[in-house]
Amino acid sequence: MELIETVDDMRRWCEGQRAFGKTIALVPTMGFLHKGHLELLRVGRYLSDVLTLSIFVNPTQFGPSEDCEAYPRDLEGDLSKARHAGVDSVFVPTVKEMYPSGYQTTINVEKLAGHLCGTSRPGHFEGVATVVAKLFNIVRPHLAVFGKKDYQQLKVVRRMVEDLNMDIQIVGVPTVREPDGLAMSSRNRYLGPEERKSATCLKKSLDLADEMISRGETDPQKIKRAMKELILAHSFTQIDYVSICDPATLEDVDVIQGKVLVAVAVKVGRARLIDNSLLEP
Ligand code: AMP
Repeated sequence: MELIETVDDMRRWCEGQRAFGKTIALVPTMGFLHKGHLELLRVGRYLSDVLTLSIFVNPTQFGPSEDCEAYPRDLEGDLSKARHAGVDSVFVPTVKEMYPSGYQTTINVEKLAGHLCGTSRPGHFEGVATVVAKLFNIVRPHLAVFGKKDYQQLKVVRRMVEDLNMDIQIVGVPTVREPDGLAMSSRNRYLGPEERKSATCLKKSLDLADEMISRGETDPQKIKRAMKELILAHSFTQIDYVSICDPATLEDVDVIQGKVLVAVAVKVGRARLIDNSLLEP
């Protein structure tokens, strides 16, 4: 497994693979790998000849008061997991390598970024779209794998790829969960034991929405009220948003008629956690 730190070296390595006719899958991450990331790697490994993992805690997708500096890191552990997952190359650039002095270009996927996490994290998706576009230009993968846990991110990336005519297949992978339903996330590391128990409220609230919709409830307000009540009945929770929206546009729906995205963002202690579910009446 190659460990690559510079853009030039990464380009060269990928060009070498392409010259041999190999297809390349890229799995972009911020590291501190868990089973969710490993599932992305498994899918990438299966779908392509060569598997590249990127580990980069991208500062431009964090707000000034967010956890960029404190974001958990464990390069040694990540490399060992990557080796086991059959990764061929790991791209670990520095911030300076990705954003050298004079850097000034960003990508804004305007409408999709204006909902859900985009509202509470202004600039977040601009940071995500820009770094993903840069990684795509460096690696030039045939396909890239993303998790559905970050549904809005997946939508933003798909939109960008379509709008900018990038010739890359985007693959979405279902959310990997702990046995009690909590979506795996590097930020779960922030949870103390009592907070960890409360963190199950995200998935429970999605299950409640599922139950209500299955019983024929079509009023999103009623469902959101019940979800919020359930979440706030758990200690240490602070709701960022509970949304029932159109899975294509991410705009709130007034009545549940077809498929909807139910999405939640909740702070549990200092961990801001997100989860979502695609539900159909
Ligand atoms: P991150 O390192 O948190 O930026 O995540 C890197 C990639 O892993 C993104 O495409 C995420 O959507 C995906 N991911 C994170 N957690 C999970 C999970 N529990 N299940 C599936 N994919 C995940």
